[in-house]
Amino acid sequence: MIVAPRPLGPDATIGILGGGQLGRMLALAAARLGFKCHVLCPDPQSCAFDVVRRVTEADYTDKEALDRFANDVDVVTYEFENVPAETATFLSARKPVLPDPKILATTQDRLLEKTFVTALGIETAPFAAVDDRAGLDAALAAVGRPAVLKTRRFGYDGKGQVTIRAGDDPGIAWDEIGRQPAILEAFVPFEREVSVVVARGLDGTVQAFDLCENEHRDHILKVTRVPAAVPTEIAEAARKIAGRIAEAFGYVGVMAVEMFWVAGDAGGGGRVLVNEIAPRVHNSGHWTQDGCTVSQFEQHIRAVAGWPLAVPVRHGRAEMINLIGAEVDEHKTWLAVPGASVHLYGKPIVRPGRKMGHVNRVLFD
Ligand code: AMP
Repeated sequence: MIVAPRPLGPDATIGILGGGQLGRMLALAAARLGFKCHVLCPDPQSCAFDVVRRVTEADYTDKEALDRFANDVDVVTYEFENVPAETATFLSARKPVLPDPKILATTQDRLLEKTFVTALGIETAPFAAVDDRAGLDAALAAVGRPAVLKTRRFGYDGKGQVTIRAGDDPGIAWDEIGRQPAILEAFVPFEREVSVVVARGLDGTVQAFDLCENEHRDHILKVTRVPAAVPTEIAEAARKIAGRIAEAFGYVGVMAVEMFWVAGDAGGGGRVLVNEIAPRVHNSGHWTQDGCTVSQFEQHIRAVAGWPLAVPVRHGRAEMINLIGAEVDEHKTWLAVPGASVHLYGKPIVRPGRKMGHVNRVLFD
């Protein structure tokens, strides 16, 4: 039995699983609408703990803690996609959990995810399942080279994936990903990496933010720009694709769909291929905090609270720059830049590759 969601009053408490910067920014947006938040996370240094009324420092599988957490909140949502299935099942029997955790089973597994997307008639890179070393040879014969071998589960920021080019020994790639169930994808010769952050409300309304383009450095998002420099019809097609996926999932909340834009002849037209779905607010949507009339965080809170979604209107061109590791010091310079808004996550320890904050810039032509 699961508990069905219903619209909440503004005095309600929203439970958030996960205490990172996404949880923190969700809680800040919730507070602006009058909600209280309770964050559950095992990490005592969770940066979301600093901004909420109540915290539970406990493991996601601690049933006693989960029970107390469930009793205190009116709805449960999450800020990361690897919520254990048993945690979601346990909580769903007590309070509504949104987005529906059954979606996690699909998005936690690259093979299930790509199978789901292609079944909707939406294009992805050609792919094949790889279960063992012999399966990799068969997949390479089907998909061709260059190809990208990715673990089915727990891959992020480029971890758990290896490119196999002409002449490469597939055995080395198989060892490198730890000889585990995988997916082999054709290498996509993309022009740009783009994403759509889309919200679906409890009433089924869909609102997509404008398509943005993403630049990575060392496999970590560095800059997001919106609108993406792609043909208008591509941007519209991408937003529709994201909406269709949200509808097919019966999604409630905000999710991000990462895609590749492959340009057509002479750099125009072309097509978009879905790469990955993040069933949560997403780094490529941070620009909405300052570049749009509603942020992705507020939109997510509205959705899980059963409130109407806002119609997002962009203020101008926008740019989001991540402050990664020691770059957090650059915030001092950004504080003086006209049109720049500084967001720091309050993380006590700086580590290479760790997202410490970001800067949003709104640019007017
Ligand atoms: P992912 O973990 O799937 O988001 O992949 C991380 C990054 O690897 C992407 O942002 C792309 O830059 C690159 N990548 C992943 N899959 C492919 C592919 N099939 N073809 C080309 N590049 C890819």
